[in-house]
Amino acid sequence: MAHEVTLIPGDGTGPELADATRRVLEATGVEFDWDEQPAGVDVYEEEGTPFPDRTLDSLRRTKVGIKGPTTTPVGSGFRSVNVLLRKELDLYACIRPCKAYEGVRTRFPETDIVIVRENTEDLYAGIEFEKGTEDNRKLREFLAGLGAPVREDAGISIKPISVFGSERIVRSAFEYAQANGRTRVTAAHKANIMKFSDGLFLEIARQVAPDYPDIEFEDRIIDNLCNQLVSRPEEYDVIVLPNLYGDIVSDLGAGMIGGLGLAPGANIGTEAAVFEATHGSAPKYKGQNKVNPTALMLSGVLMLRHLDERDAADRVENAIAEVIRKGEKVTYDLKPTRDDETAVGTSEFADALIEEMNQ
Ligand code: NAD
Repeated sequence: MAHEVTLIPGDGTGPELADATRRVLEATGVEFDWDEQPAGVDVYEEEGTPFPDRTLDSLRRTKVGIKGPTTTPVGSGFRSVNVLLRKELDLYACIRPCKAYEGVRTRFPETDIVIVRENTEDLYAGIEFEKGTEDNRKLREFLAGLGAPVREDAGISIKPISVFGSERIVRSAFEYAQANGRTRVTAAHKANIMKFSDGLFLEIARQVAPDYPDIEFEDRIIDNLCNQLVSRPEEYDVIVLPNLYGDIVSDLGAGMIGGLGLAPGANIGTEAAVFEATHGSAPKYKGQNKVNPTALMLSGVLMLRHLDERDAADRVENAIAEVIRKGEKVTYDLKPTRDDETAVGTSEFADALIEEMNQ
């Protein structure tokens, strides 16, 4: 039976990337029943919303989506599609595999890590008190009463980390490890300083770990983790982190594997799972058939595994690895110099992959 999947091409370079990815996914022989839906600046200009209800309804119905990037214009009152998606579908786990494929120029060729980032709590919860406001004054007064004075000219952001939020993200990390043949989960934190938020995260991770006896568990203080990731990346496997550290380490991981064009992502929630690249809409390249579709295609690989189409997932991933290893029919960002005239376009990269899969 065909898999019903919501396809959101997005804007900027999104539609070109989505088209290339769709062709590659279809070339596996797996059947899809695509429900194509809009999001981003183009539909905003036409309909006054970047995220129409019908797109959300489709995701709620199909429970699986693949999404091209969407632009968030600065200072327009325009809400980020990704923030809306995360809130509406409670996409609490952001999973970002960072694997360095042979043939990519990187100083960290041994990198093969998976970052599991909590997506709903921590300093990103949006509980903020602007300097000079009445709410800020009341909060400072309350804190002073507890013997915790804060300077009058301070802005304040609150960092909530719960048992509920920590447990479900740590379980996600262990379950991902089990389902994908991974052997170790590392929890990253700053529990030595933030005892009641990061400390709680670590305590819950330690409580959950024995439920997965076949997976090794360890923890690292976040600064030490960053140091070790760039000195001994081969020692790390699945890494689970609260929201802020997860955001930062995700980009570190993308840099370690050779750039944004290669970093995929999965947002897993209680209501649906949405697969998308780490990078944005790269609007300056819109319509040029130029950017690298690997990140969205690897997000498609994660989607295939989520749909239990493991054989097809392996075939796409192996073809990507092989085309990158050969280094001929690859996009500009994977060539030795950015102006290399032998670079192929987004669409021709997809053609090369399909040819590789069919060999
Ligand atoms: P970006 O990731 O779009 O692009 C930054 C640069 O990275 C590009 O100019 C390009 O040189 C390179 N790059 C990105 N993707 C590439 C690819 N696939 N192949 C080759 N090179 C690639 O980041 P930005 O310019 O900061 O953001 C543009 C817009 O995208 C903003 O509005 C931002 O809010 C949005 N954004 C969306 C998402 C998302 O939808 N998930 C994520 C991040 C940013």
